[in-house]
Amino acid sequence: MIKLQHVEKVYRTSAIETLALNNINLDVQKGEFVSIMGPSGCGKSTLLNIIGLLDEPSRGVVEIGGRRVEKYRDRELAHLRNEKLGFIFQSFHLINDLSVLDNVEIPLLYRSSSARQRRALAQEALEKVGLSNRMKHFPKQLSGGQKQRVAIARAIVGKPEIILADEPTGNLDSAMGNEILSILQNLNKDGATIVMVTHDDAMAKKTHRLIRLFDGTQVL
Ligand code: ADP
Ligand code: ADP
Repeated sequence: MIKLQHVEKVYRTSAIETLALNNINLDVQKGEFVSIMGPSGCGKSTLLNIIGLLDEPSRGVVEIGGRRVEKYRDRELAHLRNEKLGFIFQSFHLINDLSVLDNVEIPLLYRSSSARQRRALAQEALEKVGLSNRMKHFPKQLSGGQKQRVAIARAIVGKPEIILADEPTGNLDSAMGNEILSILQNLNKDGATIVMVTHDDAMAKKTHRLIRLFDGTQVL
């Protein structure tokens, strides 16, 4: 489902070069739940951004859902991203002046679906995360855990095959964090392939496989 071969990422800012990723090889099968751990600055976000087609490697091959993307143009990347990938972030990234339901519908605005279809899919996604009783609320009326559940509903509303989560429990207490993890585990049981960056050992242990990064390099 996700394949990286000899991926390298170099950031160049004026005179300074940073090797953020060094020869990363990764093969994530359909239905796997993989976590990525490592100290701050080791390249976790860079790796997730490359898998998420938000950033390009300096070298190496990226294959998402069987498609090698190095020749893709921005529009084609955006299309593939919208079709295959759902994103969850540490800081939720909800739009404050849209209702919960409207927030969840956002990814569908890029598809040719009717307002009625969008509403039905958003309601279905909110049911999956146990928030169908909060559809008319606004983000500021929700707890952190509820906001993250809205963000998960938004990530899954288009039924992506792959979910990418960048420290999804980083801003939550452990009870809410566990709730979020169990929602992700349920989505995984339903077939989603998940890659999650986390700082939490206990969370990582509950996934199928742990990838450790140190200074841009994969360690065993
Ligand atoms: P992590 O997510 O593990 O904290 P990052 O992937 O954010 O690590 O960063 C990896 C390395 O790349 C760090 O040394 C960071 O300073 C550097 N880096 C990240 N983004 C940029 C950028 N846009 N420009 C230059 N250097 C960057
Ligand atoms: P933080 O650790 O500051 O909370 P996030 O988890 O919110 O970071 O974001 C992780 C990465 O995803 C960042 O590199 C950010 O630029 C990127 N990002 C955040 N929101 C979006 C978005 N809506 N679409 C694409 N990329 C995003």
